[in-house]
Amino acid sequence: MIYIAGPCSAESREQVLETAEALSRINARWSFIFRAGVWKPRTSPHTFQGVGEEGLEWLKEVKERYGMEIATEVATPEHVEAALKARVDYLWIGARSSANPIVVQEIATAIGDRLRLTEHRPASPDRTQTKTILKGILIKNPVNNDAGLWIGNIERLEKTGVPVFAVHRGCGHQPCWAMAHAVRLARPDIPMLLDPSHMSGDAKKVPELMKKIEELGLDGAMVEVHCRPEEALSDAKQQITPTQLGNTLDSIVSRLCLASLICPPSEEKELNWLRAEIDELDERLWETISARMDVSRRIGKWKKAHDVAPLQPKRFQQLSEQVAHFAKENGLSADFAQEVLKLIHEESLRQQ
Ligand code: PEP
Ligand code: MN
Repeated sequence: MIYIAGPCSAESREQVLETAEALSRINARWSFIFRAGVWKPRTSPHTFQGVGEEGLEWLKEVKERYGMEIATEVATPEHVEAALKARVDYLWIGARSSANPIVVQEIATAIGDRLRLTEHRPASPDRTQTKTILKGILIKNPVNNDAGLWIGNIERLEKTGVPVFAVHRGCGHQPCWAMAHAVRLARPDIPMLLDPSHMSGDAKKVPELMKKIEELGLDGAMVEVHCRPEEALSDAKQQITPTQLGNTLDSIVSRLCLASLICPPSEEKELNWLRAEIDELDERLWETISARMDVSRRIGKWKKAHDVAPLQPKRFQQLSEQVAHFAKENGLSADFAQEVLKLIHEESLRQQ
């Protein structure tokens, strides 16, 4: 099991050290790799963009003081160069970079070049002259729901010779279990971690999502933890405190595979994966139905304003033909499809 915890962003030396100190005190049973982003890929240019290289100094201090390994996000070859110079142990590639294979390739090439460059250097007191050691590269799923792209990124990064870990952070603030399942089946040899923070965007949902680690036989988690989440400069709503993380881990410990002896074979997890896929599809189905009712109500308003009757037989006929076509294309029974349309249409008329 690998647990990575720390703030979304390194904001100040004090915030980084205070969060790391609290994590180091949680419980001897848990040891964490400390994460913090210093270059932040934010949606808007008007929000906090990260402190840049200065933050790497604070991460180095975390390593020296608390003996934790450190992790940061890289999005360019320059980031790779700076992070490896600072002897960051784990690099992660974010969901936005992961959507662009050119960016991932550039990062992979930069890592490979840097490792080769220092490969034969003897250890020297001058740390920059020492062989570069990177413990792992974490690749988040791409923001777009694309298992093939995620697998391709894993393959690009594997060429560096550094262990690669997949991180399932979902798309937007929703899990994408089908994508994660496809990657798990294609590459059972690649450890997969859960990122419940970005997956939910909501600190309250993080403990519940953590249960998926055991349910699906995942290999750990990357969790956003901040000493004062409400003051965070990025992702404030989804960060939990170090104490909350400790309590969450303690509450699921009996069910976590701490020893491989108590870990059921992964075949038994298959049903849970399939159920997670069903839950995800059901959620989308209900969201779609609800969005459809919303549009129906707007149509209802329009009809009222233009004195048009809610039921339009010609339009219903058209819908019914469309559904017959979809059913045929997708191998569904025609009767079943017409039955579902009838139910949805009746409810739409009622809403109008
Ligand atoms: C992060 O881990 O802080 C981050 C930016 O994540 P993601 O790329 O998954 O949005
Ligand atoms: Mn974040």
